[in-house]
Amino acid sequence: MQADILFRNAEVIDGTGATRQRLDVAVIEDRIAAMGDLPDWRGGVEHECTGLVLAPGFIDPHVHHDEIVLTDPDMACMTSQGVTTIINGNCGFSIAPLTAVPPFPAPLDIILSPDVPRFVRFGDYRARLNAEPPAVNTACLIGHGTLRINAMTDLNRPADAAEIAAMRTALDAALSEGGIGLSTGPFYPPARAAPTSELIEMARVAQAHGKLYVTHMRDEGDRVRESLEETLEIGRAAECGVHVSHHKCAGLANHGLSEITLAMIDAARQHQDVGLDTTPWIASSTMLNSGRHRQATRVLVAESVPHPEMAGRDLADIAAEWCVDIDKAMERLLPATGTFFIMDEGDVRRILSYPHTMVCSDGIARGKHPHPRVWGTFPRVLGHYVRDVGLFSLEEAVHRMTWMTAERFGLKGRGRLAVGQFADLVLFDAASIAEGATFEAPFTPAHGIIGTWVNGRAVWRDQATTGARPGRTLS
Ligand SMILES: [Zn+2]
Repeated sequence: MQADILFRNAEVIDGTGATRQRLDVAVIEDRIAAMGDLPDWRGGVEHECTGLVLAPGFIDPHVHHDEIVLTDPDMACMTSQGVTTIINGNCGFSIAPLTAVPPFPAPLDIILSPDVPRFVRFGDYRARLNAEPPAVNTACLIGHGTLRINAMTDLNRPADAAEIAAMRTALDAALSEGGIGLSTGPFYPPARAAPTSELIEMARVAQAHGKLYVTHMRDEGDRVRESLEETLEIGRAAECGVHVSHHKCAGLANHGLSEITLAMIDAARQHQDVGLDTTPWIASSTMLNSGRHRQATRVLVAESVPHPEMAGRDLADIAAEWCVDIDKAMERLLPATGTFFIMDEGDVRRILSYPHTMVCSDGIARGKHPHPRVWGTFPRVLGHYVRDVGLFSLEEAVHRMTWMTAERFGLKGRGRLAVGQFADLVLFDAASIAEGATFEAPFTPAHGIIGTWVNGRAVWRDQATTGARPGRTLS
């Protein structure tokens, strides 16, 4: 029997959480053709994998690469980590449908450059990705914040009946054209004035399509419990599945609160559909003037438009150098993004270990000094938290990066190694896998990733992109 690619003697972790097995895996075209002991098979390319783990390519449920997949389609920041599928359009901000013109209000201006091509319909964005595919598979949520910016002239009030109707119509069309769910970000200024009732109206449209309400909650700090309760209420009122993005308890005063929030999620799961994801870092990253600096023990400037030379520097040092207070320094740096040290290691571990938590990077690849999570998230979990800390098994970690996520977001044929499934694969060395990216050197590729394949084609080999761009749009 002839395969295009044959992996021999791999430690196969199939994504379901099952214990690894030593198997051969044969790939023909874009699918897994056979698994088992395959002595009679030959491969056009054969990989001897003794001692290496072969797993489903990782699925990142939360990124902001809506534009980067067009402008930097090799997507090395993802394929170098073993990620083969990404979900864009998070936190209420998607690249499409977009009828508004620049300058975009923050944080949309973090995700999109002023010269971004404008996709008035979501279907136009998908068509462009199908015509010029990136290296990874992409799916996209439709952002309520983007819909608000399109539909409203004054964002500082609740949407009126006509505006809600316009947003519902636009959301309905975008979900019909392949959007995989609704995202909201009432934390952010363009949606802060949206009351719970407005979010429920939007969630009802997602529910009608059998899709999820995914949210960057209104508050992840002092009012995280109230915000979680609001999210759960939206799910119950709209009878819609809800998904808490990058769950965290921000600010010193709130360290330890994840014991309560996870108990709330556990209780709610008895009656309604609730899921969550998180990143494996105590620092978060968002617009510099998000108010997060008041909760942080340390703030690094990720990017500043008027002061690009300050990227990577400590905000407190900049303020001291300029002989001004923190607020004044921040004002001068805008528009800017920052990295905020706001979480407790105990909360990070507790949330990551919760049985229903998926792994996400929350990466924003734009900018000169991004958070290391953009390049390092998945290897950090597999190396630091699994191998070094022993938080959970490698099989469990892979499950939270693959099949759990594929099932949650309805990504058919992905996330599991089985005959007939798409050949999205990562080959790695469990003994050496680790993030390479640091807060000082955020663009360093991970260690221990031997290769990454998307739809049966190699996209990352020998610590470099291959130039292949076999990614598909998923819906
Ligand atoms: Zn967010």
